[in-house]
Amino acid sequence: MTTNEDTFFEKDELILGLKIDVDTYRGTKKGLPALIKLLNSEKIKGTFFLSIGKDNMGRNIWRIFKPKFLVKMLRNKAFKLYGFDILFRGFLWPGPDIGKILKKLLRLPTKFGQEIALHSYDHYKWQMNINKFSQEQVEKEFRKANIRWFKLFGSPPSAMGNPGWQLSEEWLRLSDSIICKDVKYRSDTRGTTCCRIKYNGLTFNKLQIPTTLPTYDEVIGRKGVTDETYNEYLLSLIEPGKLNVLTIQAEIEGIACFKMFREFVQKCKHKGIKIVPLSEIYEKFQNTGKVMNLHFQEIPGREGQLAVLKNS
Ligand SMILES: [Zn+2]
Repeated sequence: MTTNEDTFFEKDELILGLKIDVDTYRGTKKGLPALIKLLNSEKIKGTFFLSIGKDNMGRNIWRIFKPKFLVKMLRNKAFKLYGFDILFRGFLWPGPDIGKILKKLLRLPTKFGQEIALHSYDHYKWQMNINKFSQEQVEKEFRKANIRWFKLFGSPPSAMGNPGWQLSEEWLRLSDSIICKDVKYRSDTRGTTCCRIKYNGLTFNKLQIPTTLPTYDEVIGRKGVTDETYNEYLLSLIEPGKLNVLTIQAEIEGIACFKMFREFVQKCKHKGIKIVPLSEIYEKFQNTGKVMNLHFQEIPGREGQLAVLKNS
């Protein structure tokens, strides 16, 4: 086993893992095909983290009445970013079932050689309850998702990443159990390198690939970063010889910020930054002996406690 992080990349190698979260009906319908078309034309591959059940994201609307959330919504111009329909879906009318209505679109990534991973069955329910689910509930939710996944793709998921950088001992236990034997890695934390997770005195087996870079909605409007300077700012954070993983949203970079993201991809090419799916990162790091501790803490620009990896 290797423990030295430096041996995974060449010193000047510029690699960027691309994680694309697809949370909603609208993101699947509009953002996902637009991003696939772009990645195809640029000959790039990424990993699509799909939500395959009910879209109840409109339930987030109640949080608007919390002052801190309202400030964020205004800072990010949330209505422009997400669209009126996403913000109210599942709140004013019942949420549509993405995995039933948009089957063809969910199958689009694999059709074009992109990687897919399980993000959620019901994004809203999972994001809100991941830390509250008992072991039985976690298994029940996963089994439900697994059955749906099988119906859609004919095989079990080979990777997973929970919504909203949420994780718990129960989810880690599930990932190491026989039910998840086909899952090669998880990606649902913030950190700096791939590792196994140590939590509550236990070390779990499944490889974790953390997101290392901030997301658009965490950065924009802070530190003077605007839509005009965002791409340069993001590029300045990509480090040679190190793990770089960016999470984008089908709802944001695939729709409202599509042009900006297209420019980002083209700029990456010019700078020699190779964009890869997370499975390529898994191949490099699968035997790492690195173990990191899981903490829950706030990070700048995002509400609530997130799963963050630290050395101690
Ligand atoms: Zn998500």
